[in-house]
Amino acid sequence: MSTPLYLVVLGKQGAGKGTQCDRLAVLYSIPHVSTGDMLRAAVKAETPLGHEVASILNAGALVSDELVIRLVEERFAAPDAAGGALLDGFPRNLAQAEALQVLLGENGVRLCINLDVPIELATARLSSRRVCENCGTIYRDTDPSALSGVCAKCGGHVVQRADDRPEAIRRRLETYERDTAPLLDFYRSRGILVTVNGDQTPDAVTADIESAIGARDLA
Ligand code: AMP
Repeated sequence: MSTPLYLVVLGKQGAGKGTQCDRLAVLYSIPHVSTGDMLRAAVKAETPLGHEVASILNAGALVSDELVIRLVEERFAAPDAAGGALLDGFPRNLAQAEALQVLLGENGVRLCINLDVPIELATARLSSRRVCENCGTIYRDTDPSALSGVCAKCGGHVVQRADDRPEAIRRRLETYERDTAPLLDFYRSRGILVTVNGDQTPDAVTADIESAIGARDLA
């Protein structure tokens, strides 16, 4: 069996990580593992975990390392993650990055893709983002589905995430700079960081990521 393709996707909130991970998951047949999506699903399903984390998510703060590391460890045990995964929203700080090295082994993360966007663009994208509560489709505030509040794909309710409101956005971007941006050096020093310009069309971003993966013969 070939070496599992575990890829870490870093970037500010609003950089396009979710969109790119969905596309790359199809291209490389590996699951898109988003800790944010997993936590939001728990909140929606009103599980004990969901009750524990709901107010933290709404405020745009981070849940504990212990909790999120356990969540990722459990996810990796599922058969579909045996060939690798796209990690979106994890690791978020150095402690989580170290824990990931322990989970996957020193060379387990094959590449870290840094989706680079200016803070103004990230803020603008987050404040105009709307999402279908049912199927997760992302819209812009000016899209017909956002204006009508009814998802064109599934008929679900289109809403603004509580953490996409201005105060939570500011807090999330500050947390990114303080806790997550240091991971760029962590992966750079291991020789596995590639920075891609996120201020392009989704197709152009995907193409840049594919050539970075191809150039290193990873897949
Ligand atoms: P995201 O969709 O990645 O922006 O995550 C949404 C929210 O989930 C974050 O604001 C945190 O409250 C929580 N979360 C997601 N991933 C992590 C993580 N790796 N560590 C701590 N909290 C997280």
